[in-house]
Amino acid sequence: MSLSASPTADSASPQAILQEVFGYAAFRGQQQAIVEQVAGGGDALVLMPTGGGKSLCYQVPAIARHRQGHGVAIVVSPLIALMHDQVGALEEAGVHAAYLNSSLSSDEAQHVEREMMSGRLVLLYAAPERVTTLRFQAQLASLHERGLLSLFAIDEAHCVSQWGHDFREEYLQLSLLHERFPDVPRIALTATADDHTRADMIERLSLHDARVFISSFDRPNIRYTLVEKDNPRQQLLRFIRDEHAGEAGVVYCQSRRKVEETAEWLAGQGIPALPYHAGLDAGVRQRHQDRFLREDGLVMVATIAFGMGIDKPDVRFVAHLDLPKNIESYYQETGRAGRDGEPADAWLTYGLADVVNQRRMIDESPATDEFKRVQRGKLDALLALAEAHDCRRVRLLAYFGEASGPCGNCDNCLTPPRTWDGTEAARKLLSGIYRFWQHGQQRFGAGHLIDVLRGRQTDKVAQYGHQSLTTFGIGADLSETQWRAVLRQLIALGHVVAEGEYGTLGLTDSARAVLKGEVPIVLKEASEPPAARGRTARVGRSAAKTGAHEADMDTASLARFQALKRWRAEVAREHNLPAYVVFHDATLAELARRAPASPGDLEGISGVGMKKRDAYGEAILSVLAGADVSDKPN
Ligand code: ADP
Ligand code: ZN
Repeated sequence: MSLSASPTADSASPQAILQEVFGYAAFRGQQQAIVEQVAGGGDALVLMPTGGGKSLCYQVPAIARHRQGHGVAIVVSPLIALMHDQVGALEEAGVHAAYLNSSLSSDEAQHVEREMMSGRLVLLYAAPERVTTLRFQAQLASLHERGLLSLFAIDEAHCVSQWGHDFREEYLQLSLLHERFPDVPRIALTATADDHTRADMIERLSLHDARVFISSFDRPNIRYTLVEKDNPRQQLLRFIRDEHAGEAGVVYCQSRRKVEETAEWLAGQGIPALPYHAGLDAGVRQRHQDRFLREDGLVMVATIAFGMGIDKPDVRFVAHLDLPKNIESYYQETGRAGRDGEPADAWLTYGLADVVNQRRMIDESPATDEFKRVQRGKLDALLALAEAHDCRRVRLLAYFGEASGPCGNCDNCLTPPRTWDGTEAARKLLSGIYRFWQHGQQRFGAGHLIDVLRGRQTDKVAQYGHQSLTTFGIGADLSETQWRAVLRQLIALGHVVAEGEYGTLGLTDSARAVLKGEVPIVLKEASEPPAARGRTARVGRSAAKTGAHEADMDTASLARFQALKRWRAEVAREHNLPAYVVFHDATLAELARRAPASPGDLEGISGVGMKKRDAYGEAILSVLAGADVSDKPN
């Protein structure tokens, strides 16, 4: 055989690599354009939501260029904890990859360096602080001289921006990659999309000549549901039991104490749950994170300390027991659900107290007034999302500057909330606040206001003489819950502010027109009991009680699916890797449904590349055969 380039040309085509190595039929979204840009030697800046498929954008070009003789791709990643699993996944797919970080012994590190310097490695993962050392720079220079430095991928590129949330000093030095090796293509990737961060990335990483690829930030498989708080623990328990029994999920709480209490309580209810927050011992945190990644169906109860770089693809739900800070945080935290593209839930429960609480944290923070003003604006935008009557996704995307139509996959689309003319109720409530002020130049919180509107004779009413107010008892027709809903919505609409430690209520300028009856107020009816609501919302998704994959399986397929999962768990344990690195649930489900009987039948099953077919084909066929036999009656 001649050594000309022609035989490799085909095997180095992105499409061929996608099918042969990863077992996927087609690129998603902009992947193909990105891959072609980088494989062809150009630079790229990639903004793609979590779960969009960023890894393939540099892995496929790295493989293509390696096959063309260009040597090693360097992947800069801040997430040391993830490198092991990413490298494991590549090796499983038959791609020679390794990482260099502080967890390696010096023997292991030397071995990796030899593999790198020989150009045999296809991808090398390293943390930024390693990449910028003199030793590593010298190694890169040597590779470069020999034409064996194929590309640089800079993952989590937003870390270069002070504007963002994960700034890393070491990222600033990555500009030297371009200075020293200007002809080596670079691809920077992030899921953080705001304009400031983007400008910072281009500037600080010298990506002026890069093609910029911006994907839609929609996550169509995530269903958004925001419910009113009404015994939140029970709401959470019902949500998990009814819709996600046995599945992996994250429950976010604001405080460490609440994390621990909630985890313990869930465990007591028979839901396998673990706590995670920055106050726990590093060893405990690591252990809990490992278990979450490796075991099936664990629920992680956590503060926002948990999340960055959790690329577990089969997190089926993210629940919030407390209100996030703003829409950016909400989007980022909920985005950890459903990276595999399968149906997933983003579920949040909130109440008036959350609003008051978040507002207080802003008021009491030591930040500048300007900063506080921005934070309040952001909180208001989140409240408007929470109180919306219309499509959540349309609002969410609009916040990030994307136009869209009703999605059909959020609570408001699935069960349009009933609305009522709240103009009169709003006027009563606003005048209640106004009369307090007129009466004694004082402000009060929600509880007292509602007592007065409903005409309750409390000690506080007597103490301030509020039974003499014209507003006393004008709202006896609505329940306390209904008044709270009215108040929340007026806050979300910006007519009322709740401030300070006690969330005392004040009117804004826009309240005047409402008071005069000039602005009609349409209010959302207080939600039905969540159980009833949950059931109606589930029409169209039959996944109740079991995971999404089991839902439409017949008994025989189900038996095969479970047998495959057991087999996968063994393989994952042997290889010391999370189960999803061996095969995704979706792949096992397809195998279970199609029940291939011969090696040829394995062709074309999504997620089964050539190496995995060779390595596991026989075992899979025999697991399937065994499951079928045992499933036959008698
Ligand atoms: P990101 O890093 O953007 O959050 P990943 O690279 O982890 O996303 O990809 C998310 C999931 O989607 C992974 O499980 C990956 O295997 C899968 N995936 C990516 N691209 C494709 C594709 N073209 N076809 C099928 N699955 C894909
Ligand atoms: Zn919708």
